Amino acid sequence: MRCLVSVSSGDEYPFERLAEFADDGDPLEVRGDLSHAKVRSGAPSIAARFSDFFAYKNAAEGGGLGEIVTPLVQAPQPLAEFIGIERLLLKNETMNPTWSFKDRGTLPCIWLAAELGETTLATISTGNMGHSVAAYAARHGLRALVFVPDFTPPEKILSMGAHGAVVVRVAAENFGVMKRSVLAHGEAAGLRIVSGNGPHRVEGYKLEAFEMWEQLGGETPDFIAVPTSACGHIRGIHKGWRELFAAGLVAQVPRMIVVQAANNAPLVSGIQQGLDHMVPVEHVETIAEAITSGNPPGGDALVRQARSLGWPAATATEEEIIDGQRRLAHSGYLVEPASAVSVHAVRKLRANGSIAADARVVLMLTGSGLKDPAILQRHSMKIMDVKERDLSAVLKDLVKP
Ligand SMILES: *Cc1c(COP(=O)(O)O)cnc(C)c1O
Repeated sequence: MRCLVSVSSGDEYPFERLAEFADDGDPLEVRGDLSHAKVRSGAPSIAARFSDFFAYKNAAEGGGLGEIVTPLVQAPQPLAEFIGIERLLLKNETMNPTWSFKDRGTLPCIWLAAELGETTLATISTGNMGHSVAAYAARHGLRALVFVPDFTPPEKILSMGAHGAVVVRVAAENFGVMKRSVLAHGEAAGLRIVSGNGPHRVEGYKLEAFEMWEQLGGETPDFIAVPTSACGHIRGIHKGWRELFAAGLVAQVPRMIVVQAANNAPLVSGIQQGLDHMVPVEHVETIAEAITSGNPPGGDALVRQARSLGWPAATATEEEIIDGQRRLAHSGYLVEPASAVSVHAVRKLRANGSIAADARVVLMLTGSGLKDPAILQRHSMKIMDVKERDLSAVLKDLVKP
């Protein structure tokens, strides 16, 4: 029988539960019957091949915006060299239907709504999750309701609005306060509101693990670096690998690397200081706008999980984030600042010996650089304004050896 389980106490809750956390505030995860789970090798889509690993009736159908498969590629030499890891892989989640990995987590929301006959998809988001929910809701004729903090970049809000979502821009002391308040009022109103660390979205992120497993021909990376905010993504990727392990398909579960901006590192601080809880940040000020949870619900449990499993953790400063974004862009990958944090964070972990030089490491490129184009103005670029009559002279100059 499928149910939700507290990751800390093991207490069980109904699968259909509206609240996303256990009564004591601990994160929940989906438990289904995986005893006979196997990969359906002949099936035509990833969702169908791994449908045994999901507790939803229509998981095999995917999400309706086309099958999601994103590239897993060897990083170009200069980037691998800079980070100091030869076997560096990039998982390009910017190639999702709405250009961030959040689409993966929206699939179970669609499956659940269909099963329970729910007609509204509601979420709290700094942008990407709202965009994803808005797009999938539009595809399925559902109403989308998105609560965003008032610092959300206008481009992200416009993309939600364009899909027909109702966007509620909330002014609050900070994102943490806003999130807790919206969730509490939503539950009181009988509305299911998904946040970034709810059990159903976490299920969708398992698909990234399954896909990497296929792309690596059944092999396992040693580390997977995940820019982390609400904690849903990192939990989901890890859960996917754990389930592959339980099914006897891999011999080891990769270690996650917890990556955050130095200006907002509640989880990394807790892990680095050897605590059993996070160190909340009150006034978050970082260009990595997609990872601004300063006090994420369920963060304490993530710190304990990271410590017990030996997950490395590191940060990057604001300058390092821009530099990382530039290095990725100059390698062919335009990512948003949140995704770029991993470059310097993983480099530091390599330099201090936490990661061996011959380790196989995946960087999750979580979202597209076009999500937040204003930031790109911080890069130095070669942009020339030329009068037509000067073109000949300018070209001669440009083609000089
Ligand atoms: C949501 C998001 C993250 C953080 O993921 P969590 O599940 O909140 O930890 C990282 N990068 C991008 C681009 C995101 O949209």
